[in-house]
Amino acid sequence: MALYSAPRGTQDILPEDQPYWRHILERAHYIAQLYGYQQLDTPIFEDTAIFEHGIGETTDIVEKEMYSFLDKGGDSITLRPEFTAGVVRAYLEHGMHVRPQPVKVYSLGPCFRYERPQAGRYRQHHQFNVEAIGEQDPAVDLEVMSVAWYLYEDLGFKGLSFQLNSIGCPRCRPNFLTVLVEYYQGHADDICDDCRRRLERNPLRLLDCKTESCQPIIDAAPSMREYLCDECAEHFQTLLGYLDSLGRPYTLSHRLVRGLDYYTKTVFEVWAEGIGAQNAVCGGGRYDGLAEVLGGPPTPGVGFASGLERIVLTMKHQGVQVPALPAPQVLIASLDEQTKLMGVKLASNLRVAGIGALISFGDRSLKAQLRQADREGVAFTLIIGEREAEAGQVTVRDMARGEQHLVALEDVISWLSQRLM
Ligand code: ATP
Ligand code: MG
Repeated sequence: MALYSAPRGTQDILPEDQPYWRHILERAHYIAQLYGYQQLDTPIFEDTAIFEHGIGETTDIVEKEMYSFLDKGGDSITLRPEFTAGVVRAYLEHGMHVRPQPVKVYSLGPCFRYERPQAGRYRQHHQFNVEAIGEQDPAVDLEVMSVAWYLYEDLGFKGLSFQLNSIGCPRCRPNFLTVLVEYYQGHADDICDDCRRRLERNPLRLLDCKTESCQPIIDAAPSMREYLCDECAEHFQTLLGYLDSLGRPYTLSHRLVRGLDYYTKTVFEVWAEGIGAQNAVCGGGRYDGLAEVLGGPPTPGVGFASGLERIVLTMKHQGVQVPALPAPQVLIASLDEQTKLMGVKLASNLRVAGIGALISFGDRSLKAQLRQADREGVAFTLIIGEREAEAGQVTVRDMARGEQHLVALEDVISWLSQRLM
């Protein structure tokens, strides 16, 4: 019988890769807290309608990528393809508008998209998601962008760059769309099938096309930034002023879009060396119209999400070192049934005292047990032989120095504690 394998586009995160994950999560929690963001966990699935409305029915995600199914009760459920819609749903459901605004929250967890798997693109991936809900001030846009930036800097990324754009608001965008559609109608024969559909259904997304043959057409397309209303232009200029004063480099890009009315003003991505321009390490922006689409009062919001797999790939590509995970520093070797019993008890006591301990299983020679201790990289091997058992002692072997000490059983914990600090 053939062995089963993990579903296409999913990955097992093996123990040897966990140091990357643990380090990223640890830094993400730390930096979120530094900026005053609190953790919010939402369910991994939501009513399908939340995403249909909250991401938009004409987006790639909703049209092609959602894991949706009817549950046993006949309700349509979708595994979350992203966090924002669920987070705003939670903000509204729990009446968070009465809390000090903006409500600043972050989440970490898996997201699901039915994509064509390739490097950096999976069907299950994980996101670090950051949102600030309830405030228009461009200083919030700056703050959210800074959280992302600081995380990547902290992780030691080289070649970071911000891609930045403003996609205006429902007041100024229609003028631009008219111009964009006219421009594309002049190229209708040269664009891909997806773009022909986008031209009909969601023209802003034309600028986001990844098809090779559409790239020159996008390059020469008009830019939303030339059509911003006064309010959107001022918002954007203020944000640029903040970025300049912090000395944060950015590249203005008219290709960056989100494609739906409730995404407004700021859009940004972060690119990093080694992961390729097609694979942003993070994407975010403002969504001042989203809460209303989900049935709430008008509520501005801005946020970003960063794919953790893409962070890991970037770290590996750039050779970023991560701290090893803590592992037991002691292995207990015994020689027969009776000394093994003592070993089992000693291991148990050591763990209670906060000293990580391994015991050797099965009937192995002392030599084999010492080899195991070497392989595990422990600092000390505690050997309990017949002689030690009779005298109520253990032989402690310092693995690095090759020295051995006889230590009374009742002193072992304090002896080790002093040396394992
Ligand atoms: P892309 O243009 O690469 O498809 P997107 O616009 O769909 O990205 P967002 O919806 O903004 O991406 O998601 C935020 C972040 O989540 C991305 O910048 C990326 O780091 C990560 N991400 C998105 N989709 C995937 C995926 N299928 N596999 C791994 N990471 C992903
Ligand atoms: Mg995508």
